[in-house]
Amino acid sequence: MSQEKKKIDHAPMVYFNVQGSDLIIDNRTMSQIACIAGQTPFYVYDRRVILDKIRLFRAHIPKRILLHYAMKANPHPALVSFVAEHVEGLDIASQGELPVALATKTHPEDISFAGPGKTEKELKAAIAAGIVINIESQTELDRALSIGKNLDLSPLLAVRVNPDFELKSSGMKMGGGPKQFGIDAEIVPQVIKQISTSDATFVGLHIFSGSQNLKPEAIIDAHNKTFALADRLVKESGCTLQKLNIGGGFGIPYFPGESHLELEAIGENLERLISEYDSVFAKTELIIELGRYLVGECGLYVSSIVDIKVSRDHTFLITDGGLHHHLSNSGNFGQVIRKNYPVVIANKMGSTTTQNVSVVGPLCTPLDILADKMTLPVAEIGDLVAVYQSGAYGKSASPARFLSHPEVVELFL
Ligand SMILES: *Cc1c(COP(=O)(O)O)cnc(C)c1O
Repeated sequence: MSQEKKKIDHAPMVYFNVQGSDLIIDNRTMSQIACIAGQTPFYVYDRRVILDKIRLFRAHIPKRILLHYAMKANPHPALVSFVAEHVEGLDIASQGELPVALATKTHPEDISFAGPGKTEKELKAAIAAGIVINIESQTELDRALSIGKNLDLSPLLAVRVNPDFELKSSGMKMGGGPKQFGIDAEIVPQVIKQISTSDATFVGLHIFSGSQNLKPEAIIDAHNKTFALADRLVKESGCTLQKLNIGGGFGIPYFPGESHLELEAIGENLERLISEYDSVFAKTELIIELGRYLVGECGLYVSSIVDIKVSRDHTFLITDGGLHHHLSNSGNFGQVIRKNYPVVIANKMGSTTTQNVSVVGPLCTPLDILADKMTLPVAEIGDLVAVYQSGAYGKSASPARFLSHPEVVELFL
């Protein structure tokens, strides 16, 4: 990791090999992979990187903690099926994700459904499928109970708690204060009571406080508060928990100066919490749900340079790919100040003849930037630009129809 600190142009790029001047995945160069895709732009996901991330998690996080994959990070069916083979459960965020989850080897009771504003139709689908619904409001609870009666099924209900704390230093805060997510901690005991006295099955609590965190101290602090809150809610409501989902929030480095999240201290703290709260949660499945940490680094977004122009002494590499496929790389998905993802010329790796350039897409908007004023090998038309850290919140988080360019292709290798 000390090597990472020296690089200032990019967040650390520790995955994918180089052969000669080519970036390769599974012994194939990017231009060979472009042949398989049949076009640029494409996303390519490397299963070996996902396995590596899961191994890292298992190496540091206690065995008592089960790992779930939050599908909205990347819902590509082949990827989800692969991840499902190696984790204990899936978390979905819409009815659209449900068929993909059900097509995996995961048991329905290990699939949970979170997100505000679940409709009648979505709740019906979840109850018919027998997955766990993380209840986020009183309306949702009333709907789920009446659907259960109508279908003559006992819905599996967990309560998503809007905690009375926030995940500090988080990319996106999703708990604490007034929020559209979850039920305020103060009224959770009465909601649990309502579920427990109904025909539905109360399965537990879901406490998710935020996303994209690179500070172990902040995650440790959130875990401490999450266990304490769950303990308090169990005592106040007199219930027992089959499942306690303590959220996730593990981040990955995207920008210059960032480094990988260290899991050692987080794991040690969880070990301590598990023994401290052993009497309360001895029979409870403890779950961490992760999206981007598992898949963010497995993906590259690859486009071709179609034009190179110099405008008032600054060089622009213009590609056939852009924010319509990869909004988050353009800086328009939750970032306050735009910074560069790691970007390379995939067929000129290691070239020492460099130039400071901006890489832009084909859309008629100044927002369509792949890399802003970055030092890259001197490139030619036809060269391939690869954006790292593109395995999460890529295709599915982008406005594909904007400007009516062709769709991006996804490959899972
Ligand atoms: C989005 C989301 C996740 C995944 O977040 P990542 O930052 O991708 O790990 C997990 N749980 C819930 C409830 C979410 O909404």
